[in-house]
Amino acid sequence: MLNNTQTTQPADWPEGVIARYLTVGGATVDVRTHRFTTRYTGQGRPYVGNEDYEVDGFTWACFGCDATGATDGRNYIRLDYGRYLPTERGEVRQDAQEHAERCRALPRPEVGE
Ligand SMILES: [Zn+2]
Repeated sequence: MLNNTQTTQPADWPEGVIARYLTVGGATVDVRTHRFTTRYTGQGRPYVGNEDYEVDGFTWACFGCDATGATDGRNYIRLDYGRYLPTERGEVRQDAQEHAERCRALPRPEVGE
């Protein structure tokens, strides 16, 4: 696979951001790591255990319209507060990208008002 290192990547992505998508309107959707407690085991959904597990999963958020996985993710993600398990890296990227492809909200000004 060709790894295009020529692409200019801003060096200042916020910590924890693992992917960033540009929306139709020019805003960004960030996918970031998110540590949370869940009953799902390391196997991922639908396997639940009897105890809480602390996992390093993911969330995404749109800075144009405030959508997140909790409002605009696939069904079971919405039901899980917008949290994606460590096994759902592909799903979080897909949901964030699909939102970016539909979202027409403009980016907010950098400084308030
Ligand atoms: Zn949006």
